[in-house]
Amino acid sequence: MVYRFWCGECGFKTPWLAESEGAQRQLDHYNKQHPGIHAGGHVETGRRNPQDSRISGLACLQVAGLLALLLIIAAAYRR
Ligand SMILES: [Zn+2]
Repeated sequence: MVYRFWCGECGFKTPWLAESEGAQRQLDHYNKQHPGIHAGGHVETGRRNPQDSRISGLACLQVAGLLALLLIIAAAYRR
């Protein structure tokens, strides 16, 4: 898994990183950009190949569509 840390104060987000590295980057960002503010925001988790998160989402839809199709075919053959 990879993690992307989002700043709670501005639009900053870290690149996809290992959890500890991302947390460190976010902390660095807070120290630089929002000194004195407790680090907030949220963490996004992703699969190994982060750049393809949108594509893998599409693949997920395709798999779901394929499964639905198989179910329809199976139902048709059962008669
Ligand atoms: Zn920020």
